[in-house]
Amino acid sequence: MPTENSDILAEAGHKTQETEYYSPIPDGYVKGKHKYVVVMGTVMSGLGKGIFSSSVAKLLKDKGLRVSPIKMEGYLNIDSGTLNPYRHGEVFVLDDGMETDMDLGTYERILDQNLTGDNFTTSGQIYRGVLDKERHGGYLGRDVQMIPHVTGEVKYLLRKLAVKQNAEVVFVEVGGTVGDFENAFYIEALRELAFEEGPDSVCFVALTYVIEPRALGEQKSKAAQLGIKRMMELGVQPHIIACRGRNPVGDKAREKIAMFSNVPANRVFSMHDRDSIYTIPEQMHAEGLDIQILSILNMHSRVRPAQEDKARKQWSRFVNALTRRRKYSISVGITGKYAELRDAYASIDKALEHCGAHLSADIDIKWLDTIAMDTAAPESIANTLRTLDAVIVPGGFGHRGTEGKIASVKYCRENLTPYLGICLGFQMAVVDFARNVCGIPDAASSEFDQNAANPVIDILPEQKKIEGLGGNMRLGGKQVQLTAGSLASILYDNQTEIRQRFRHRYEVDPKFIDTLEKHGLIFSGRHPEQPIMQVLELPFATHPYFIGAQFHPELTSRPLHPAPLFMGLIAAAIRHAYPEVPAEQISERWLPFVKEPIQS
Ligand code: GLN
Repeated sequence: MPTENSDILAEAGHKTQETEYYSPIPDGYVKGKHKYVVVMGTVMSGLGKGIFSSSVAKLLKDKGLRVSPIKMEGYLNIDSGTLNPYRHGEVFVLDDGMETDMDLGTYERILDQNLTGDNFTTSGQIYRGVLDKERHGGYLGRDVQMIPHVTGEVKYLLRKLAVKQNAEVVFVEVGGTVGDFENAFYIEALRELAFEEGPDSVCFVALTYVIEPRALGEQKSKAAQLGIKRMMELGVQPHIIACRGRNPVGDKAREKIAMFSNVPANRVFSMHDRDSIYTIPEQMHAEGLDIQILSILNMHSRVRPAQEDKARKQWSRFVNALTRRRKYSISVGITGKYAELRDAYASIDKALEHCGAHLSADIDIKWLDTIAMDTAAPESIANTLRTLDAVIVPGGFGHRGTEGKIASVKYCRENLTPYLGICLGFQMAVVDFARNVCGIPDAASSEFDQNAANPVIDILPEQKKIEGLGGNMRLGGKQVQLTAGSLASILYDNQTEIRQRFRHRYEVDPKFIDTLEKHGLIFSGRHPEQPIMQVLELPFATHPYFIGAQFHPELTSRPLHPAPLFMGLIAAAIRHAYPEVPAEQISERWLPFVKEPIQS
């Protein structure tokens, strides 16, 4: 070893121009205070690195440690905002407005923790940072290279995250698979990080896949071995190997993998497929994965056992509720352009999963193709929707499918089917109400007809200026004022101000508010100062559950804190499916659910 690691760090921070090292250290960084767990995938993509990483992070968080995850994407886009949900799953919006990969949703849900743009990076962001620095003379005459400058930027970002979020353990998920061209510089940076931080500081986890060809009927570990070898060729020796597979990975395969990769067999774990990802933390704990990681990072003395018992008990109550037999069985329709692709609506799917567990309801999701409904006769729409106990019209962009959505809202409004409109679904409820109740037959959104005579939903540049976004999307967490006593406020535990996440460009044109309200639509959620409508509802006396939100409640639904607008919807759907429950009990039925979730 050329010098002490601390010398490398000191040198790297201060004498960049005179040394081959380039490893700037953020202010306030204390070596040894922050540890790192790095998760990389081998053999193939889609192994669930995010689920793995967040489950381990949760176990350590439950022990009282402060954790911060980061996902490092290989692609060159600056964020996920422009990615097609067909190809890449939903765009997940963080509280600070960052548009990220849907994996960040997994982290937030499992950790029950709000993340920021610092918890997500792409190759595009890294390169942009390096190129900006170069243009500003940041490299003092040096030729700028992948190593050490790009890798130096990666290490800097990780350390900055550790300082900024005061993380005791940073969980780094490297996107893609080991051997990909795009993530090679991340892996190199992490190798350097481990060297600079010294022993007991970085725990490398190789997530791999054990194949079980049907024709052979046994587990084959060669692909896993080769994948891990590839990682070792890059200078990274894994400490832990987690084997994904269809079935529990047997001793024989695990021993072989252990032997070929210098990892003791008790650190090679089976991470086979499960019915629910929420059972994974408990399984990992039962197999001692958390203990092994604490040993590798020499952190046993930092855990707080009292906290752990409480956290584990709460989680296992949820998991029990999730896995036990449900009392009710309901069906919920979701209209959507991406109806074929569940990933495009992953957070809605999860929000429903959370409510199903808390309210003991088996929820059968029916995906409705609104493009086909665009031109369908009302009777055929009625036939499709009649069998449903609730309907959700989720967020979306563009014209296609909107007439089908408006027709679905109309059906729910007139036939007392519980309805939740999210973002575009909120806007479509306004259009339906304007057309069919207020008597404005050509009411529309200017998003799908720029020349609409009555654009009840429109872009209002003067309002956009308020939040400094020009014609851009209104993004991220914002305050919403709720009218006291409204259905919305009751659902949010009688709060009158909540914070919710937005991602929209269009909104209700204030000049129609009066007309809409006079005809019975209630705007129960508003911007705290401006006439921007954020929640609508129909009076409880006229409809069992009809509510729309300009924001996305699904983004903040967490296993232990399900989203109230979804809880209300599912409670109302249960009543729709089981009408024998007396009407006067309805509020008694859901309010306790909202206040004190899991019912036994
Ligand atoms: N397309 C609508 C808008 O931009 C709704 C957006 C959404 O549903 N996320 O306002």
